[in-house]
This record gives sequence, structure tokens and C-alpha cells, in this order.
Amino acid sequence: MKSIPPIQLIPEPLTDEARNLPKFKWASKEIGARHRLGGEPQFLQNEQWPNCPAGHGRMTFYGQLDSINDDICIADCGMIYVFMCFDCYEATSIVHSN
Ligand SMILES: [Zn+2]
Repeated sequence: MKSIPPIQLIPEPLTDEARNLPKFKWASKEIGARHRLGGEPQFLQNEQWPNCPAGHGRMTFYGQLDSINDDICIADCGMIYVFMCFDCYEATSIVHSN
């Protein structure tokens, strides 16, 4: 299984609409800043590491994307995790709630 070293992703709003999105009101500071490529997934629930459906074994953790604000919120300040097989490029994603 290929692994990717951890790379922090820092959001950069591209439009005024994006710049003016409201922030979280009550969520703790790290929520909304957990976007990253590679490294180890910061699972919020029990580890759930997918295998390639074509039989190539454990998929590579490609990255995780965080909730954006109270309106664009993944399952109560959760995250989405993306996994990919580098043998056949099958990808899958998993959502964990906070
Ligand atoms: Zn595969």
C-alpha cells in the first residue's frame, strides 16, 4: 500500500461569497482547520479503513476534508475521509460525525 506523508491544507477563499461565509459559533478552534492530505486519518469514530473492492488490499488514505461552518457542516462538525487504490484508482469516502 502506498502511503502519503502528511500535508496540511489551508483553505483560501476564492470569491467574496466564500470570504464572507460565517464562522462556527460554538465549535472548538481546530474544527474547520483539519483539512489535510496523507498522513494518518484523524478518525472521529472507530477506525474504518477500507480495502480495495477489486482485491488489491488496504486502500491508501488520500486525505480528509473538514466541515466549513455551521451551515456547511458534515454530520455535527465531522469530516469526510477519502481513500484510493493506487493499483486500479478506485476511490471511496467515509463520513464520521464528531
Ligand atoms: Zn484496487
